[in-house]
Amino acid sequence: MAQSHPVPTRPVIAIAGLGIESSSFSPARTEAPAFHPLRGADVLTRYPFLAPGEPLREAADWQGALVGKALPGGVVTASAFDELSTELLDRLAALPRPDGLWFDIHGAMTVEGVDDAEAVLLARIRELLGPDVLVSTSMDLHGNVSRPLAHMSDLITCYRMAPHEDAMETKERAARNLLDLLASGAPRPVKAWVPVPVLLAGEQTSTRVEPGRSVYAAVAEVEAAAGVTDAAVWVGYAWADEPRNRAAVVVTGPDEGAVAAGAERLARGFWEARREFGFVAETGTYDACLDTALAGADRPYFISDTGDNPTAGGAGDVTWGLARLLDRPEFKDPEGPTVLYASVPGPAAVATAVAAGVGASVTVTAGAEVDDRHAGPVTMTGTVHAIRHGDRNARTEVVLRVGSVYAILTELRKPYHLEQDFTGLDLDPRGADIVIVKIGYLEPELFAMAAGWRMALTPGGVDQDLTRLGHHRVRRPLFPFDPDMPEPDLSARLIPASDQPLTGADE
Ligand SMILES: [Zn+2]
Repeated sequence: MAQSHPVPTRPVIAIAGLGIESSSFSPARTEAPAFHPLRGADVLTRYPFLAPGEPLREAADWQGALVGKALPGGVVTASAFDELSTELLDRLAALPRPDGLWFDIHGAMTVEGVDDAEAVLLARIRELLGPDVLVSTSMDLHGNVSRPLAHMSDLITCYRMAPHEDAMETKERAARNLLDLLASGAPRPVKAWVPVPVLLAGEQTSTRVEPGRSVYAAVAEVEAAAGVTDAAVWVGYAWADEPRNRAAVVVTGPDEGAVAAGAERLARGFWEARREFGFVAETGTYDACLDTALAGADRPYFISDTGDNPTAGGAGDVTWGLARLLDRPEFKDPEGPTVLYASVPGPAAVATAVAAGVGASVTVTAGAEVDDRHAGPVTMTGTVHAIRHGDRNARTEVVLRVGSVYAILTELRKPYHLEQDFTGLDLDPRGADIVIVKIGYLEPELFAMAAGWRMALTPGGVDQDLTRLGHHRVRRPLFPFDPDMPEPDLSARLIPASDQPLTGADE
């Protein structure tokens, strides 16, 4: 059995990690600067609970190595992963020898030519720090937990809410549980891991509605049991194609029986609910959503153009939705129903519109520089309605009026989540007939103003219709790819402590 470890007086805890969810179905690529890495003492500024004077901060000697977090995007290049991991390891090596490591990751980082990238990174870290360091891993519930990742972590947990309102609370719990473990001198926790052969989109698994609400409500009940330290359920990341991509459960704690029973209960709860996970809004084809919006009286009517959602990993420059909109006869007439469309990047088009000025008529071509698989660059002639400079993501944005469509074009890709994102461009979403946004579930401000809403199942790097994306490396059988698959083995796999050899197949 695992040995007790010596109790350090004021433990040294290193912080390191890389976080992104990267779609392997998008032709976009993510480079190192996208991670905006923080280094050394700056790492601590990410976490309010580690501010000077906070009890947790004072209880340990926290040492930042490198933590990088990127917006969702395309696959991380091999060179970016190598550059960032090498620097992270060099910085770890230069720190005072840590008693513990808090590994702060997302868990859905896909890297060119590398499977299970976070486990690969953690293996390199463990090689450097040795077997005695205790590791606590915190993740997004849309991350993936392979057996090696669970093995190399002594504690491992994830968010319990989608949308992720408990992100900081989760990180704090991961940090505190590590500190408590170090301070107690107790043996390394027992870990029960159960892979659940289900792969669902984030938009189907909100914890605000059933069955997600009940599946996740059980996590706190399991955690409250005697002998359990932490419990977690991962939905997994649907838009990458690796064997690890699927749901998983891990429960950790000192009591083998309690940990195993809790993990099996959570895994069974997720599996049994698999057919009940629906989208949080009605879905349909793009044209059917437009037809429904036009036929009804709900104004404004929102349509999520979900396949190219940039905050889920879409390239953001798919033109399919805008091109189809401009093709519809209803919107050719300037007196037609007002439609706001957000958005398509097109730096050259933006430059042309800026040079021409508000009120000018221009012909520009935008989009499909990164993802042209579904439609090519879109050429349109319209009137420049607005120009805005200085946005953090988009840099410069312009609105082009084409018929009754107000198309937002940006220099760089940008998510449109707030009312101000529109009103700042002299657009009135509340007064529009239809508002189309590249997004999944509507962000709160947009949700609050939407009189009607549908999610259009459109093509792109984060297509919500998973079965048409062409996964071929995920482990089968897997729901919903194999809807009538036999009952899986949902028994708890007890993973040996991280300082012992990994045994058992990764299933
Ligand atoms: Zn997430």
